[in-house]
Amino acid sequence: MPILNLVKKLLKPGFGPDRKVQPRIYPRSEHPISRAQISPNALKVLYRLHKAGFRACLVGGCVRDLLLGREPKDFDVATDAHPEQVRRLFRNCRLIGRRFRLAHVCFGREIIEVATFRAAAPKAGGDWALEATTGRVLRDNVYGTIEEDAWRRDFTVNALYYDIADFSVVDYVGGMEDLRRGVLRLIGDPEVRYREDPVRMLRAVRFMTKLGFTLDPACEAPLSRLAPLLEDVPPARLYDEVLKLFLAGYGVQVFESLRHYGLFRSLFPLTDHALAREPDGFPLVFLAKALENTDRRLQEGKAVAPYFLFAALLWEPVRLEARKRQAQGVAPVMALQEAACEVITRQLEHVAIPRRISLPMREVWLLQPRFERRQGGRAFKLLSHPRFRAGYDFLLLRSESGEVDAELAEWWTRFQHADEATRRKMTAAPGRGRRRRSRRRGRKREQTST
Ligand code: ATP
Ligand code: MG
Repeated sequence: MPILNLVKKLLKPGFGPDRKVQPRIYPRSEHPISRAQISPNALKVLYRLHKAGFRACLVGGCVRDLLLGREPKDFDVATDAHPEQVRRLFRNCRLIGRRFRLAHVCFGREIIEVATFRAAAPKAGGDWALEATTGRVLRDNVYGTIEEDAWRRDFTVNALYYDIADFSVVDYVGGMEDLRRGVLRLIGDPEVRYREDPVRMLRAVRFMTKLGFTLDPACEAPLSRLAPLLEDVPPARLYDEVLKLFLAGYGVQVFESLRHYGLFRSLFPLTDHALAREPDGFPLVFLAKALENTDRRLQEGKAVAPYFLFAALLWEPVRLEARKRQAQGVAPVMALQEAACEVITRQLEHVAIPRRISLPMREVWLLQPRFERRQGGRAFKLLSHPRFRAGYDFLLLRSESGEVDAELAEWWTRFQHADEATRRKMTAAPGRGRRRRSRRRGRKREQTST
């Protein structure tokens, strides 16, 4: 009997990546994926691989989304053909990646990514290629079988294969059942999988929110404790992940969820610290408003510039720093400039914001005090600034969250739409004789409300 139990355990799905398990096969009649929903270019790639004698499947997000009746973002193919063999089959094919070679088959603007089945971490001299202290995977570049390929994926619902040979869905990990129940579950031991790659914690939040799934309790429990592991992830990778998290149209929920699990602190420690304050007993709502606005824009099909998002994410710590400096006697505009530098420099240790993003982000911040100087030619000059629109949108958010007077934002809204004569009137100095003095006084007043 004990032997029978052992055999049963070994055969049970979920036992581990080294075990041979029979996949559950869902034939075409038992799942809703139809070829009409699959990109014709992806089908071409699948058929040609199949005709050449290779195994060819759709895998990952596209299978998951098709099963849920959602439109996939892109179509990824997994195969037992090696990259060189894939290249020989397709003229329009490039091999990319040095560490792990992938084939990109290009059809105009659509790229079908073709990856060779891969095993989990290689065993070098019997050891997994894991980092000693954190358990992070350092190497992940060994070809394997479809089964090994399934086990190394993150969530069960992301490890389903649509096999072009017979149009069936192949499930090694119980993904179909989890999909049906709306559960997001890591394959294998959650703590081990988070330690191998802490970005999976962010992916958990992203997929939960995007799919409206619940996170399996065993995968949820270690999140807060393991959140600090994100600090070991290369900042460049976190930049990509932050964009995926906040620019998919559900940033408000993502933000709440990240804060709830203590993950936000590891990505944006300065913002987290600044948000912990509640000046005059009121919570700071600027960032929440900004994310709400971003989600709305995305839902309306409008673009959101990454620099605007990052400007919003880091505004509270910039304000806080600027205020500190002002209290030490630094002039306001200078205080703001220094604060911007300081916050960017410190943030780069966590999330690598590229210069093409951080430069316009800074500009948006530094434009803010200029909105308060309206007299004479200044308003006209600001209006023709290349970043005016972004700066003005940012001002609106500051006004909505009660940080600046609503009157100021309204004035700028009117000014933009006014005819030339009205604009001149709006910016006219109060009186000729007092012009010089009031200008000087004006400048003082403008020193400013960060
Ligand atoms: P999306 O629709 O957002 O693109 P996706 O599931 O396709 O979702 P990708 O980041 O494109 O996500 O990854 C493709 C697939 O690669 C995933 O479905 C998963 O199987 C696998 N994968 C991606 N990242 C990881 C990871 N960090 N650990 C393990 N497997 C991963
Ligand atoms: Mg994808």
